[in-house]
Amino acid sequence: MKILVTGGAGFIGSHLCERLLKEGEDVICLDNFYTGTKDNILDLMDNKKFELLRHDVTFPLYVEVDQIYNLACPASPVHYQSDPVQTTKTSVHGAINMLGLAKRTKATILQASTSEVYGDPEVHPQPESYWGRVNPIGIRSCYDEGKRCAETLFFDYYRQNKVDIRVIRIFNTYGPNMHPNDGRVVSNFIVQALKNKDITIYGDGSQTRSFQYVDDLIDGMIKMMNNKEDFIGPVNIGNPVEFTIKQLAEKVLELIPESKSKIIFKDLPQDDPKQRKPDIALAKEKLQWEPRTELEKGLKKTIGYFKVKITS
Ligand code: NAD
Ligand code: UDP
Repeated sequence: MKILVTGGAGFIGSHLCERLLKEGEDVICLDNFYTGTKDNILDLMDNKKFELLRHDVTFPLYVEVDQIYNLACPASPVHYQSDPVQTTKTSVHGAINMLGLAKRTKATILQASTSEVYGDPEVHPQPESYWGRVNPIGIRSCYDEGKRCAETLFFDYYRQNKVDIRVIRIFNTYGPNMHPNDGRVVSNFIVQALKNKDITIYGDGSQTRSFQYVDDLIDGMIKMMNNKEDFIGPVNIGNPVEFTIKQLAEKVLELIPESKSKIIFKDLPQDDPKQRKPDIALAKEKLQWEPRTELEKGLKKTIGYFKVKITS
């Protein structure tokens, strides 16, 4: 099969490209290198089944493919807020262009949607049936509303044009290949601890997240794309074990005992969700999928990656 991965040089995309190549697929990795880097896919370049395409998904694309994983979009609040108009364009124009490509080629297309569609949720944990609580005019809206509109487009192309869609809602995922300056909490805390810099907790650290190791996500993504039940989603893919941000900081320091870092508290950004935890009953039932990597194990692998990365 010929498979297009948009955002393929990013954190998740690079893991997905690697896994698909291992499974013997032909992979076209598309990226405009906004937050992704060639470093993430360097090891794949020699593979004859791998092709790299510098392209921006906000422009139309003409290639022949059987499957499309649409991941292109900056995912860290720091990066998606630095050019919010481009973030909305990437989600919305990107979805239209990739859905148009899927329509013409009759490819199956999977959208990497997000737990952010639930906003700052009042229902906890979050099932797929919850419609969310998103501020439409705040600093996170370019991402949250862009991703919500992309979901709308996916379901309209499905109803109107019979495009074969899949939608997954990814919850906070971490692992090797995150950029040291990514800005998300797991990479920030690890890099800070390794460099003996202050660990920056935003707010009082009582807000919660549920952290998923990247390998578990890739398993879920591929299962969703290839499920034979005509199950199109949306489906939550995340690890339901919930931690406060303060607990995460303490865990990172425990796993890097040589660190001289101290925890400091900074202002909580606007609209920062107070709690987040996936209800994964649907993924278990429809995909026979659930995450297998405990936080400590995933953090150890990620710390190992950053130790090499920031000293090389
Ligand atoms: P990332 O920033 O590492 O990767 C995004 C990739 O998309 C980068 O390589 C970037 O250069 C590329 N990109 C951005 N805009 C583009 C454009 N206009 N055209 C082409 N390429 C473009 O982030 P990630 O964590 O790997 O996230 C990948 C996808 O998964 C994103 O769509 C994100 O919204 C979604 N997601 C991630 C998480 C998570 O916790 N990591 C959670 C929910 C959803
Ligand atoms: N956060 C933090 N310190 C950091 C980076 C993030 O305390 O250096 C907090 C952030 O305010 C949020 C949580 O960690 O409450 C997760 O943030 P991240 O940017 O990783 O993802 P998201 O908010 O999109 O879930």
